[in-house]
Amino acid sequence: MERIAIFPGSFDPFTIGHESIVKRALPMFDKIIIMIGYNSNKKSFFPLETRKEWIERAFDGEPKISVDIHEGLTVDFCKKVKAQYILRGLRTSADFEYERAIAQVNKLMHEGIESVFLLTKPEHTPVASTIVRDIIFHDGNADQFLPSGVTSEELKAARQ
Ligand code: ADP
Repeated sequence: MERIAIFPGSFDPFTIGHESIVKRALPMFDKIIIMIGYNSNKKSFFPLETRKEWIERAFDGEPKISVDIHEGLTVDFCKKVKAQYILRGLRTSADFEYERAIAQVNKLMHEGIESVFLLTKPEHTPVASTIVRDIIFHDGNADQFLPSGVTSEELKAARQ
């Protein structure tokens, strides 16, 4: 059976921290679907379709990775795409506490799902979408935190 994982997140925007987690998880799965989760009641900083395009660009030419947009419960998306694994990244103990609760609730809602966690590389521990948004908001350069091929200038032009 194909091992399918989803990597869910807001990715507002996708950073080198996210990119690194996906690349490191690649040998573990046959397919990774990056799921941009959204809530139509919440305003995001960057448009959904643009966020999707940036992620697709980062993995251009990698047939095992695809990107999808989903509104609703992550476990429902897992059922839809027949994924058995939810991939998440851990930076800090605060991430761990937050992730633990989500993973345990997901397991209660969908027994067939296992959450898999990768610890961030030390150099990516301080990298967060929130920080990138702050830099862009204040007209700074966040290139070093973005996948190559995506630039701060594009992010500034796309902010909504
Ligand atoms: P969410 O809104 O679901 O927290 P994010 O887009 O912030 O979505 O993050 C998606 C996943 O990526 C989460 O598991 C988060 O812990 C992880 N992540 C975020 N930044 C990093 C990083 N720098 N290194 C490793 N994992 C990260």
